[in-house]
Amino acid sequence: MNLILLGAPGAGKGTQAEVICNALNIPAISTGNIIREALKNGTETGLKAKSYMDEGKLVPDEVVIDIIKERLTKDDCQNGFILDGFPRTVPQAEALDKMGVKIDKVIEIYVADETIQKRLSGRRVCEKCGASYHTEFKPSKAEGICDVCNASTVIRKDDEPATVLARLNVYHEQTAPLKGYYENQGKLVTVEGQEEVAETSKLTLKAIEA
Ligand code: AMP
Repeated sequence: MNLILLGAPGAGKGTQAEVICNALNIPAISTGNIIREALKNGTETGLKAKSYMDEGKLVPDEVVIDIIKERLTKDDCQNGFILDGFPRTVPQAEALDKMGVKIDKVIEIYVADETIQKRLSGRRVCEKCGASYHTEFKPSKAEGICDVCNASTVIRKDDEPATVLARLNVYHEQTAPLKGYYENQGKLVTVEGQEEVAETSKLTLKAIEA
């Protein structure tokens, strides 16, 4: 099954992508993660993306479309995949259609902006292994230290409050129109993000089965 997860930054797409990945045994593909990895490795793609990402802006369509084109040719995508964070603009969705990629369902995880701002301001990630924490909802055992590898946990640059606001604006202006795009194709299903992650996961899996 080929799925797309849609939702504002911080709506919990990444977590739901993992849940689906485990339930259906198909890879979760996050363009954000691929770009962060490219940045860490100092590749040309990473360098091109850095300034946009740091300001909470979208990386140019052609850069992410090339990333996805390459990723979808890998063997592990043959039985299906979940796209987490792609497409984020109508031209990106059109590019997928032009590539002949058949999408079965688009699941929107809906969370109100105020809730997202609260969630993202408490998010911390391990600077070494990438494990994710939250000061209120999922604190690490020792403050500022990763449970998994003992490295420091930090605030992602794009989780800083001003950047979060910018990312939400970008979402409403450039990504939300995708809802209409996929609604017209009869593929959109909306799941209301719940306070309890497990509850959202139940709803997500139900939406896929329906
Ligand atoms: P994410 O981890 O999905 O929130 O992505 C982090 C950042 O990577 C975004 O704020 C963008 O700057 C960039 N990015 C990820 N996916 C895309 C995409 N499909 N189109 C444009 N920029 C993207």
